[in-house]
Amino acid sequence: MDANVKRMLEKYGITAETWQFLNKEKEMYIDGAWSHAESGETIDVIEPSTGGFLTRIPSATCGDVDRAVLAARSAFEDSEWSRLKPNERQKLIHRLADALEEHAQIIAEIETIDNGKALQGCLDYDVLGAADLLRYMAGWATKIQGTTRSTSLPGENFACTLKEPIGVVAAIVPWNWPLNMAIWKLAAPLAVGCTIVLKPAQLTSLSMIFFASLCEKVGIPKGVVNIVTGSGSAIGGYLASHPEVNKVSFTGSTDVGREVGRFALQNMARMTLELGGKSPILVFADADVTTVAEATRWSIFYNSGQICSAGSRMYVHKSIYEKTLEALASVAQSIRLRPGLDCDCEMGPVISRSAQESIMGYIRKGSEEGARLICGGHALDGPGFFVAPTVFADCRNDMTIMREEIFGPVLCVAPFEDENEVIRLANDSIYGLAASVWTKDVSRAIRVITRLKAGSVGVNCHDPDDNSMPFGGYKQSGFGKDRGTEQLEHFLETKTLIFKVD
Ligand code: NAD
Repeated sequence: MDANVKRMLEKYGITAETWQFLNKEKEMYIDGAWSHAESGETIDVIEPSTGGFLTRIPSATCGDVDRAVLAARSAFEDSEWSRLKPNERQKLIHRLADALEEHAQIIAEIETIDNGKALQGCLDYDVLGAADLLRYMAGWATKIQGTTRSTSLPGENFACTLKEPIGVVAAIVPWNWPLNMAIWKLAAPLAVGCTIVLKPAQLTSLSMIFFASLCEKVGIPKGVVNIVTGSGSAIGGYLASHPEVNKVSFTGSTDVGREVGRFALQNMARMTLELGGKSPILVFADADVTTVAEATRWSIFYNSGQICSAGSRMYVHKSIYEKTLEALASVAQSIRLRPGLDCDCEMGPVISRSAQESIMGYIRKGSEEGARLICGGHALDGPGFFVAPTVFADCRNDMTIMREEIFGPVLCVAPFEDENEVIRLANDSIYGLAASVWTKDVSRAIRVITRLKAGSVGVNCHDPDDNSMPFGGYKQSGFGKDRGTEQLEHFLETKTLIFKVD
């Protein structure tokens, strides 16, 4: 561990268990056992608030992926997992949720150190939210139902459908919510009886390595949950195209999702693709300006804007435009940028030097293309990958910053005059993940939400989060849903049964 990282961790104080975990050699969890990569290769992990070396994780090879997939196959076909009754599965998933809650502080610390996000939000949302999702899905384990049908076949018949777990699931997740996204991928397939090979993002694998130790501790049978760490280009495609994988559940960027989809199709593996976004916020003349501005703490500045559903484009009615810009600047300037472990931190660094450079590139492009910088617009001097909360005004839909996913704390604001115009502007994007409409006029809200092409629409709120609600995109934001009852269906096959009755 780099001396600056060590000093930072000592300054803020972390639990003895977190120290112990960070200082231990990291291994992958395959077939209920811990192992290094078969090549012995590792990947360096960088701590984002200092930019210093933190630890190493195994860099899995295709051979390691083979071992993990075959372990998942054998656990699915022949092990105690495949014979486990739904109520037993339910109990085990609840035990996993208990373990997450018991270790919540440690996991939140590990995640904050690995990813840079603010500790308290990480504890409440990422970790406890993940435990809550496990409980939500655990409840469904005992409620999977087929149907009976009245057929028009000749003679007497009895017909029904049977729901069966799809088999081996390959899950590939991004770095912005490392544990939380992984649990979005794990909870539903576990509940219905699938087995899983999960590849975390190479930048942020630590929380899932720790999570694997909880799977072991609570007695999830071997081979049911396998964690392989490594780069997407080295093993992601291999995993998605593995012939023993029945379902690929991917969350990440649209470009990589397209590639992963092609890999999955090689074997007709089913797939869910949760991809990027450029979500609009529509602010009508009767909206409360202060409330709208305060909401950006969550909608664009939370997690340093590294949120797929971030409200990164804001369209404001021209009658309240300047007033709204003032309120937005005041909120953005009040956000406290600190290392995630600082109890005063509202916004941490972005994930990496290259993310910081990419965001700064977009900010330069915004100015070059004629957007008016209202506040922010710079990276912070000193160590770490901090970017100041940034607001651009007078943006147009043809600007790069209005079309591409910046994935940073950059809000792009534009004025509009009427309802039809703003709906057209909001829908003018390849993405369709989320949107929000701010108005006191219920009729207007209903007219607008039914015309917006987005998977989640908030009225007077932007993408609040609940595990019972399905989440997924329209257009190039992907297809399939995570969470809610809708997700369960993605991990089930439907078998048609017809009995001829003598
Ligand atoms: P990414 O697409 O670069 O990587 C996602 C995962 O895919 C990582 O595990 C990565 O290692 C792996 N990967 C990379 N190249 C691969 C390849 N060629 N084959 C197979 N796997 C490969 O995305 P990211 O930078 O980690 O995350 C940010 C993106 O994720 C943003 O676009 C964001 O909008 C999106 N995201 C979407 C949702 C959602 O629910 N829709 C949620 C969170 C993040």
